[in-house]
Amino acid sequence: ASGTIAFLGLGHMGGPMAANLIKAGHSVVGFDPVPAAVEAAKAHGVPMAASAAEAVTGAAVVLTMLPSGQHVLDAYRGVDGTPGLLSVAAPDTMFLDCSTINVDEAREAAAIALDAGHRSVDAPVSGGVVGAEAGTLTFMVGALPADFDTVKPVLELMGKRVVHCGDHGAGQAAKVCNNMILGVSMIAVSEAFVLGEKLGLTHQALFDVAANASGQCWALTTNCPVPGPVPNSPANRDYQPGFAGALMAKDLRLALNALESTGVAARLGPLASEIYDEFAASGGAGRDFSGIITDIRDKSAT
Ligand code: NAD
Repeated sequence: ASGTIAFLGLGHMGGPMAANLIKAGHSVVGFDPVPAAVEAAKAHGVPMAASAAEAVTGAAVVLTMLPSGQHVLDAYRGVDGTPGLLSVAAPDTMFLDCSTINVDEAREAAAIALDAGHRSVDAPVSGGVVGAEAGTLTFMVGALPADFDTVKPVLELMGKRVVHCGDHGAGQAAKVCNNMILGVSMIAVSEAFVLGEKLGLTHQALFDVAANASGQCWALTTNCPVPGPVPNSPANRDYQPGFAGALMAKDLRLALNALESTGVAARLGPLASEIYDEFAASGGAGRDFSGIITDIRDKSAT
């Protein structure tokens, strides 16, 4: 897409993403209500507007990177006297939401954007702050084919993989399914390591077997929850994230919402959601999600 990108939400993810757009020579105008985010964005050369409406005026693309679906819908519709961005934007503006939100909310956002005469794409990301800074994010995109072609070159300035998953909401659907696998598999790997400890197995022995057998998965071989076998995993730095427990708890609540609204007979997804809510509420919010293993160990019989 040529033309200016209004970039709303310059937090942990949005800040470095906007900086990469600027680095690539794209025209960007940012807005964030939090002064610290504004200062950080300015330091990266991102010009900032005084309001979201000001940023959106004259923009070809409205890119949102906000905490939740409610934030996205409120920004689109307007709330507490702030004008809705759908009414401020020029006709046929591309509303590109990169936040992680409920599939139902993403479909609602698309429906109201289309109703207002605009275009809509959901493009949540994986890769975390490290990927946002390095420009190596993966984007999971829900879009009409022509809209996908429009946003792909923009997303490629911030990421290395851009996957078209289907129509409106399909990006969020892919993200929530993937993260449910991740949440459940990290618990499974952690329970197996604690069981191995009780049975007298070394971490390395279990790793050497499972990493080359049917227990192989990302939670084991990349984000290994015990220190040692994978030197770069967060377990080696006292579970400094990485992917924070609060974010895993959020993503599993989105999974739970999707499971409930579709009526899937899932048992592990809801249980994983409960387990990570507990982890986040008891000190794990700011630790890497693989720190769940310490909860399992602490609650086990001695
Ligand atoms: P964050 O809280 O650091 O940033 C969100 C920013 O949005 C904040 O600076 C906030 O002030 C701003 N904001 C709120 N309302 C706004 C509005 N109306 N207009 C403009 N700005 C507004 O969160 P984050 O970690 O950057 O995450 C953003 C999104 O990306 C979330 O949906 C999250 O789930 C998703 N995500 C995060 C990560 C991660 O590792 N942090 C990874 C993948 C996906």
